[in-house]
Amino acid sequence: MADIIQLLPDHVANQIAAGEVVQRPASVVKELIENAVDAGAKEIKLIAKDSGKTLIQVVDNGAGMSATDARLSFERHATSKIRSADDLFRLGTKGFRGEALASIAAIAHVEMNTRRQGEEIGTRIRMEGGKIADQEVAVSPEGTSIAVKNLFFNIPARRNFLKSNQVELRHVIDEFQRVALAHPDIHFEMYHNGNDLFSLPASNYRQRVVNIFGSKTNEKLVPVEENTEVVKLSGFVYKPEHARKSRGEQFFFVNNRFIKSPYLHHAVVSAFEGLIKEQAHPGYFLYLDVDPATVDINIHPTKTEIKFDDEHMLYAILRSAIKHSLGQFNIAPVLDFDKDAALDTPYDYKDKPINVPTIEVDSDFNPFRDEEGISHSGPEKTGTEARSKYQGGRPSWQGSGRQDRQGDWESLYVGLGDKSGDSDGFSSVEIESDEVAGMEGKPAGKLFGERESEGPSFTTYQLHKKYIVTTIKSGMVVIDQHRAHQRVLYEQFLRQMTVKEGISQQLLFPIVLYYSASDMALLKELRETLEFIGFAIARLEGEEIEITGIPASVSESEVSMILEQLIADFKDEIPDSSFSQSDRLAKSLSKTLAVRTGELLNEASQEALVNNLFACKEPRVSPFNRPIYITITVEDLEKKFL
Ligand code: ADP
Ligand code: MG
Repeated sequence: MADIIQLLPDHVANQIAAGEVVQRPASVVKELIENAVDAGAKEIKLIAKDSGKTLIQVVDNGAGMSATDARLSFERHATSKIRSADDLFRLGTKGFRGEALASIAAIAHVEMNTRRQGEEIGTRIRMEGGKIADQEVAVSPEGTSIAVKNLFFNIPARRNFLKSNQVELRHVIDEFQRVALAHPDIHFEMYHNGNDLFSLPASNYRQRVVNIFGSKTNEKLVPVEENTEVVKLSGFVYKPEHARKSRGEQFFFVNNRFIKSPYLHHAVVSAFEGLIKEQAHPGYFLYLDVDPATVDINIHPTKTEIKFDDEHMLYAILRSAIKHSLGQFNIAPVLDFDKDAALDTPYDYKDKPINVPTIEVDSDFNPFRDEEGISHSGPEKTGTEARSKYQGGRPSWQGSGRQDRQGDWESLYVGLGDKSGDSDGFSSVEIESDEVAGMEGKPAGKLFGERESEGPSFTTYQLHKKYIVTTIKSGMVVIDQHRAHQRVLYEQFLRQMTVKEGISQQLLFPIVLYYSASDMALLKELRETLEFIGFAIARLEGEEIEITGIPASVSESEVSMILEQLIADFKDEIPDSSFSQSDRLAKSLSKTLAVRTGELLNEASQEALVNNLFACKEPRVSPFNRPIYITITVEDLEKKFL
């Protein structure tokens, strides 16, 4: 029988290897920029289109390559950076495996222009499917430009696997920032779809942080400095009051390479102990210089983990150095006025049309004669209408204005109560907790149609500041208040996004908030949708967003938290990429704004919440697919008493 083992052809081997090196556009960005840094460039420009899916180009003014080197650079295991295994322990460069260009060329169209410093003429090479398609002598500037087009053109499965443009752009920006933060002496620029996202002149570490994360960052930074035999530590932490609710800027660099280290992260967090709330995340930019021989760099090219010889020592040094810096800072507190950025912005009515909140009142309405009207339409429709008139979806905890509108929802009960009284149809509704996930949306009013009709008001009871308990004809229902409110808000926001007329309340003083360029890029993408739900955004440029109106269901003090959470949620890419932008936005907002477990709700709020929940299309599960309520029937109870 014939032998069956064969060597894989190079282009197949390269494609397989490429899978490890190149997972997404951001991986290409990282490899190309790192090569430019290794080539000693003083200026590096990144140009991307469609979040890197169609074009990633990196232009540097580094050493450049000879014609032969240019050709060789696309071979696998072709590197100028190490000659022997020993070199691995003295590594001063970012790359060393000689795999990146070969991998990239295997899965994209690549064009390289390069000219060595001091030489007259350069080289142009075009690669297709891992093979040289074209090589010629060319006039090009000193340095190297590599353009990577149509990533994964020959692996559609991987292309389809890519996330939305926003998410991919986020990754690209992350990689760009990581290298830029590690090398403040290099001038970096980044363009995306023709827009100038970053322009970072050569400077020092502090200035680099400020240039990337915005001028407001400067006052937030506390320098950290420590020199020991094991490590030279430098960098900054954010003052404790700038700790964020969501993970923000947290960067470790070891020998100018970005790394992730949960262990060292813990050291930083422990240094902040007692200074920030438990759920808050400290911000930091910390640079560790260690002897390359004491770290294991033989790591996977795309991974950011690292192994130190003496981690415990580093932990202790890091913790005490930060504590020390924070201590010094606390002795000399700085007056910090910029919290209230709104105050220094001139009051300014924008000509943007604002929808003033309106309350629809059915002037013909009379609760005592409405039975007829309601029985014409189905309970679901009536329920939704009546309830959304009563409240814009968000229970008003103070119950303000409730009195005036109470009639509206009373009508619901009058009508439904009547219906349930004579109908067997409703008695068939038996909801068990384990059926929750699978059930189709039932007409909203039904469950409450079952209520023993003892008049418009019904009793609710809040249990452990977490559940709302109320009675239904067949027994009782226990509702998770947080999830219920999430559902109510989620549907409300989705509805507003669809009809594009969220109710906006105009602010007396506009709110101005500051974000990093990357966060601003994200906000720009979300702008339209935010406006649909009632945000009035007067300005969104540079590092500033100016908000002149907010959704009726949001309070002014919540705005910055909402946007911060929104940015964090979009960065963390809620796992299922099949969700639309509106859906994710509605989810994020509902999560942030929903009443929490542990909040005490007065009776009016409890009732409003119950009403609003059962006016929802899908009252059974939260937007995150968790059951919202369970029912316990009298039978269930009776069984317990046997
Ligand atoms: P590695 O960086 O691990 O050596 P790469 O595949 O990324 O492997 O690059 C292969 C080689 O091509 C490098 O070792 C370097 O000599 C050369 N090279 C790549 N990019 C550049 C660049 N921008 N300028 C100069 N030389 C480069
Ligand atoms: Mg490389």
